[in-house]
Amino acid sequence: MANSRAFIQFYDEPMWESIRAQRWALQQCDDCSQYRYPPGPCCPHCVGMSASWKPLSGKGKIISWVVFHRQYFDNYKPPYNVVAVQLAEGPLVISNLVGPEPEGGWIGREVTICYEPDAEQGSIPKVKLSAPPAA
Ligand SMILES: [Zn+2]
Repeated sequence: MANSRAFIQFYDEPMWESIRAQRWALQQCDDCSQYRYPPGPCCPHCVGMSASWKPLSGKGKIISWVVFHRQYFDNYKPPYNVVAVQLAEGPLVISNLVGPEPEGGWIGREVTICYEPDAEQGSIPKVKLSAPPAA
């Protein structure tokens, strides 16, 4: 059985440090202000080489989802969900929705980043449904 542990390379390390501190940060281009994910040496929008690490707002929305009923990784027991989340800052990330499942559909639901403890990486970012606006 495979292990889902992250393979952390040079440009990933600051991001994983921020996740361990439960303040997930991504590179923001100093030239065009776009956020980049995954971390890398230059901007995919303008090819600028300069960027600054900025904490995310923690907000996003689900743009796709799936529930796996077969086990692929030791630490992901089926059934489990995987969601594609469009961050408020722009990048698309893959995560798991924790807590109650959305009633009436998953697509477009607003989510908030939360963190689960992880023995090897310290912390793993997940998402949970955002509180509905007060009526
Ligand atoms: Zn740029």
